[in-house]
Formats: sequence, C-alpha cells, structure tokens
Amino acid sequence: MSDWSKVARPIPVPNEWTKPFWDSAKQGVLSLQRCQACRRFQHPPYPTCVNCMAIDLAFEPVSGKGAIYTYTIMYHAGDKRFAAAVPYASIIVELDDAPGALMAANLLDAPYTEAKVGRRVEVTFERLNDDITLPQFRLEGFGVRQSRGAMSEESA
Ligand SMILES: [Zn+2]
Repeated sequence: MSDWSKVARPIPVPNEWTKPFWDSAKQGVLSLQRCQACRRFQHPPYPTCVNCMAIDLAFEPVSGKGAIYTYTIMYHAGDKRFAAAVPYASIIVELDDAPGALMAANLLDAPYTEAKVGRRVEVTFERLNDDITLPQFRLEGFGVRQSRGAMSEESA
C-alpha cells in the first residue's frame, strides 16, 4: 500500500472561484459549485455554468459517495515528492449527487490494484496544513471494515 505519510504534497492555492470549496473541505464537508439556474453541479469551479452560461452559482454540500469514473496507476514519480507513494492510484470520481462533475483524487487506504472503474468510493479528508484540507477518496465501507477487523471485500 502506498505510504502517503512520507509525501509532502504541493499545497493548493485557493482563488476567488475555488475558495468556497477549500473552506468547506477544511470543515470536513465536500461542497461543489452548483448552477442555481439549471441546477447542474460542476467541478472544478468556473465563473459561469458550463451547461447554460448562467452566472448565478453557489456551493452546495454533497454526500461524498460516488464511483470511480476512470483511473491511472502512477508507477513513476514525475514529481519526486511523490516517490514514497509509488505505485499509487490517481482516480477520477463521479459523485452520486453530482453526475457529470468529475473530481480528481488519490485512492487512499487501499492497494492501488483496488482501483477499478465503477468501484464505490467515499470522500475522506486529508489535512495538509492549517489552511488546506484535501478531499480524497477511499473504498466505500472502509471504516466499517476496519472496525470489524475484516479485510474481505464487500459483495456488491
Ligand atoms: Zn446552468
């Protein structure tokens, strides 16, 4: 399993469009930008709705549950800061509450071989410093399996 404890991640720098996303993540809540005209979620945040061009946008909390839309396995550390985690899974997640809004993250707390298209995941929050908490994902039910002490895969 990837050792993320030795990885010093680059720290995201919020801007006027992304600040609400980061402020929410810091509170342990995943919030995505939603068009108030057509109700569609989008990610990353933009100044306008990519669907209807409306500018009435707001951030709304989502459940953080979804499925792996696609993934890639990183076998080489292009950025040396990630060397300790290689090989690791970079995943794109489509959230149940926000179809079409795709989020990039890492699959944590699981071997990279567990990254499969369609596999159920849920958000978890990785605190990077006092200001930035990074939404990440792990297999759905991870916490339940941990408390049971069982490593067997759920039937789904
Ligand atoms: Zn819209």
